[in-house]
Amino acid sequence: MIEISGLRKSFGNFEALKSISLNVQEGEFFSLLGPSGCGKTTLLRLLAGFGEQTAGTIAIDGQDMTGRPANRRPTNMVFQSYAIFPHMNVEENVGYGLKRLKLDRQEEQRRVREALDRVELGALGKRRANELSGGQRQRVALARALVMRPKVLLLDEPLSALDKKLREQMQVELRHLQKAVGITFILVTHDQYEALALSDRVAIMFDGQVAQVGTPKDIYQNPVSRKVADFLGGMNFVDAEIAEENGVSLTLDAAGFGRVRAPKPQGYQSMGRQITLGIRPERLRVLWDDDQAEHQIGGQVIDRHYFGEVTQLIVEIPGFKAPLAVTETNDFGADDIPVGSAIRLAYDPDALVAMND
Ligand code: ATP
Repeated sequence: MIEISGLRKSFGNFEALKSISLNVQEGEFFSLLGPSGCGKTTLLRLLAGFGEQTAGTIAIDGQDMTGRPANRRPTNMVFQSYAIFPHMNVEENVGYGLKRLKLDRQEEQRRVREALDRVELGALGKRRANELSGGQRQRVALARALVMRPKVLLLDEPLSALDKKLREQMQVELRHLQKAVGITFILVTHDQYEALALSDRVAIMFDGQVAQVGTPKDIYQNPVSRKVADFLGGMNFVDAEIAEENGVSLTLDAAGFGRVRAPKPQGYQSMGRQITLGIRPERLRVLWDDDQAEHQIGGQVIDRHYFGEVTQLIVEIPGFKAPLAVTETNDFGADDIPVGSAIRLAYDPDALVAMND
């Protein structure tokens, strides 16, 4: 439905977007995820029609959007700051954009009602916007965008001003809302959990470029690079050597893990024998007493961090440059394992990921 190809944007000499190509499907919940300054908002603004690209094209439903002003695009944007009018009541805020459509009064009221019901603000229509809580203001901003019935809703960090608990609640609601209205959502966020929990697919951006696109599970389990892996939560990195390269997989030698096979990462190009192997801390499991596992590795606990439901153990493995982080639930007493003790860890060879750098 949305085809972005070779999109560039420069501000003076600075290239904020360096040739972005992406496709978004109709009805998809798609997130742009990346650190501050990577170009997410710039990309969203170009989709909305705020500013012109330096090169490349955006097509929506097969139509080239180049030169088309924001109010003639099938998009609507929800801003981080909400941008609602404090002196107007909720209904007036939501109906504001409808004025220029010159609908008859009844139709206008019907659409405002419908939008307010969608975000569960039906009872607060007459309330002044400056008498609302942060979460309620956020809903007004959503209703104000939905009332225009856009084909694509663009959301720029819409939940970042809310406290943690409310943000988590609104995340669930946002997901339900998107499924209920069936509109394509494009969400900008720097919060990896938000992107993973809400999206059908995620594009991870660094320095004005897309590093990887995929389903949350895909990008979490098979990150293409250390940078992507790190941005999506902690990962252990181990140096490995390529022993053999065939069609879709690599045979690797990694100290401690021995000889393993791993799929080639997306965009893999042969560059010498050195490669990085990654494993997530929660994919390592503590072996207790006489527990045995086909694949195991031994070391010494050098540090321990308690997080309530889980404990993270830092384990030094002979022959490894860096210690391994291991996340274990506390059901069996991982929080009581003394620093300094010897430990054995089980791993699933399928959880080992080869990465481009
Ligand atoms: P954040 O999460 O902090 O909002 P972002 O990923 O959305 O970051 P952008 O706002 O898209 O990042 O900015 C990308 C880069 O382009 C930044 O380095 C920013 O300073 C620069 N930039 C954005 N807008 C302009 C502008 N109007 N003039 C000059 N530079 C700009």
